[in-house]
Amino acid sequence: MNAPLLRPSRRGFFHQACACGALAATGAWPLSAWTAEGARTTLTAHQALARLKQGNDDFLANRLPPDPPDHARRRLELARSQTPFAVLVGCSDSRVPPELLFGAGLGELFIVRNAGNTVDTVALGSIQYGVNVLGAPLIVVLGHERCGAVDAAVSVVQKNAVYPGSIGQMIEPIIPAVLKARSGGAKEDELLDQAVRENIRRTVMRLRESEPSLIEPQRAGHLRIVGARYDLDDGKVDFIVE
Ligand SMILES: [Zn+2]
Repeated sequence: MNAPLLRPSRRGFFHQACACGALAATGAWPLSAWTAEGARTTLTAHQALARLKQGNDDFLANRLPPDPPDHARRRLELARSQTPFAVLVGCSDSRVPPELLFGAGLGELFIVRNAGNTVDTVALGSIQYGVNVLGAPLIVVLGHERCGAVDAAVSVVQKNAVYPGSIGQMIEPIIPAVLKARSGGAKEDELLDQAVRENIRRTVMRLRESEPSLIEPQRAGHLRIVGARYDLDDGKVDFIVE
């Protein structure tokens, strides 16, 4: 029963993966062709960012769209291809679901999530796929207030805490953000939030300077990489790195 349903999406993935492989086979990304030849969003980075800000304003005001989304129709429109307008690097935290915070629908956000919104090789590859293959003009790194992963990194730094299994390894990339926040003079009760902000800034900077496939479209004005912090109490997303 499941197999016939899986086949079309597997074909779709491999079709797109082939496009990826053809680009990679040249030995480097052909920078003049920084996106795939297929359809991509018509939004610019500036428009994509404005759309997210408007979506968060609507979320804050509890405003629902005038016409409820027709998920069945939209699902069929998107079944063969996608043209997301933003790549979002967010935390796995159940209170921070990007589509809800930004009032986004099916096919609009290409999301990479892990606890602490860090970027390892797998995440970086996913981000590049969203930009270079799917043509998203905007990357948003979204951290949030009272992040448990950042709090764990604070505990490692302040109390030599040890976490079981792979958790310690997962939070390692966050530790430099905690150290920077601490060396910047953050008081005990401010350290977690300063580390959250620093973790967002560091991830944005890393992406901005990561690889030619992301650097070149920024230079050409086709891509923006920004950072934002979500406030759990009031629901507002502040774009702290633009
Ligand atoms: Zn978190």
